[in-house]
Amino acid sequence: MTNSVQRRLAVSVQPVPKQDAEDRKKNFDETYFGFDINAARIEASRCIQCPSAPCQEACPVANDIPGAFALLEEGDIIGAADVFRQTSNLPEMCGRLCPQESLCEGACVVGFAIRPDGRNEPPVTIGKLESFCTDYQRNELGGYPLPRTAEKTGRKVAVIGAGPAGLAVAEQLAVRGHGSRVFEAWPEPGGVLVYGIPNFKMRKQIVDEYIDHLEGLGVEFRCNTYVGRDITIDEMLDGEFDAVFLGTGAGVGNVMEIEGESLQGVHAATDFLVRGNLPPEELPEHLREPLPKPVNVVVIGGGDTSMDCVRTAVRLGAENVTCVYRRTEAEMLGRAEERKNAREEGVRFEMLTNPTRIIGDETGRVTGVECRKMELGEPDESGRRRPIPIKGSEFIIPADTVAIAIGYGADPLVPTTTSGLRASGKALIEIDKSGRTSRRGVFAGGDNVNGADLVVTALADGRRAAEAIIEYLESLPQPR
Ligand SMILES: Cc1cc2nc3c(=O)[nH]c(=O)nc-3n(C[C@H](O)[C@H](O)[C@H](O)COP(=O)(O)OP(=O)(O)OC[C@H]3O[C@@H](n4cnc5c(N)ncnc54)[C@H](O)[C@@H]3O)c2cc1C
Ligand code: SF4
Repeated sequence: MTNSVQRRLAVSVQPVPKQDAEDRKKNFDETYFGFDINAARIEASRCIQCPSAPCQEACPVANDIPGAFALLEEGDIIGAADVFRQTSNLPEMCGRLCPQESLCEGACVVGFAIRPDGRNEPPVTIGKLESFCTDYQRNELGGYPLPRTAEKTGRKVAVIGAGPAGLAVAEQLAVRGHGSRVFEAWPEPGGVLVYGIPNFKMRKQIVDEYIDHLEGLGVEFRCNTYVGRDITIDEMLDGEFDAVFLGTGAGVGNVMEIEGESLQGVHAATDFLVRGNLPPEELPEHLREPLPKPVNVVVIGGGDTSMDCVRTAVRLGAENVTCVYRRTEAEMLGRAEERKNAREEGVRFEMLTNPTRIIGDETGRVTGVECRKMELGEPDESGRRRPIPIKGSEFIIPADTVAIAIGYGADPLVPTTTSGLRASGKALIEIDKSGRTSRRGVFAGGDNVNGADLVVTALADGRRAAEAIIEYLESLPQPR
């Protein structure tokens, strides 16, 4: 090891200050305060600048993490932010939302190195440094930095869905001089960034500022428009649009198919989250009624959405919040950090437990969830050990509110109303490696292709598809 590497490895990880659990239970503000300048520079100095940069390889948008941290360490925070913006449209969001432990930070060599004194330290806190640099830059500039844009080409693309995939496509097209109109079914643009992810993970102001930035670049938004019903892709291509990008996500909540799912007080995860986290005026009419104050809440499922639901329930003032999951913590797919935050906020976990029915009273309101204990058997097709019910182990958890957070699927509307568009059995749209679908001039990416996944993978898909769209637009005869 060189002296420089030894010196860097000797620096301890810098803590990221966060709200005390008792305080944050009473508000929806972001959990983490984030780094200050000094701590950020010290944390960046832990990066050993390895030339192979496995962190960059593990990042779906291939951020030049060592390059950014070399600048940050020197105090050039805006330069570091610009490095992140070269490969990412949403660095402040990914820094907050990526499961870094299985992406960049999971590959960081600093996390594996044994120091000369035998100490083991965590990897460089890459995500929170990425948010720090880009937040700092936006604060300094009073908004997102304006990219240099090409002359207008007269081309126009319809982008369906205003989530991370669609927004990235719209920005990439705008930079290259191509116009776009983003069609969105919900009242506001943002996709799951607005209608899903709660403020305590990421404040909505960041998304609002990004939408303003896109509007400044000439991107048009048409919300409250359900494509496939209000207008079809065929009509768009016959009309004013030269190409279409489908970024419709996977927003259809899975159901348990057990007795009692339609009782009052039983919610699909997204409905619960948006009614708990957003003002009524930003919601469609059927979701505008505020949630009654919950007392006993049961959330079914063990992923990130479940953690968002349990932590929302805590902030709504619930006295008992229980997460019910049929396997053990080792098989949970969500982030360990989110489970830790939930535990600190008083959430109870019932592992190896599966609901068998939801129980209601004579008025049709939920009163409890009947569950059965499970044990783990052989691995199933997902590679995780299969839960097996234990006979006679049934018990009831009292509940006035239940949220079902057991995953999402894609909406079949666009595939079934678009001629020549191929989709698989679960309505996932088929694409080639550039994002082209089976229908000429129609491209796709994000959760409607991959199934429910991540913000950063949707973003990566959007950037890749934008390149293919630009190539396609350039192959068309010149517009008159
Ligand atoms: C509650 C929740 C929490 C999550 N937390 C995280 C996290 O912490 N970190 C992370 O990386 N990922 C997280 N995810 C996953 C992540 O948000 C998604 O993978 C990502 O948003 C996918 O982006 P997308 O653009 O493909 O789709 P979406 O964000 O789903 O956007 C698709 C948009 O298309 C619109 N749409 C759909 N059909 C039509 C139509 N026919 N016409 C018009 N508009 C339409 C939808 O209304 C939606 O706004 C979470 C997901 C949920 C649900
Ligand atoms: S985009 Fe996500 S994976 Fe890539 S560096 Fe940022 S936090 Fe890590």
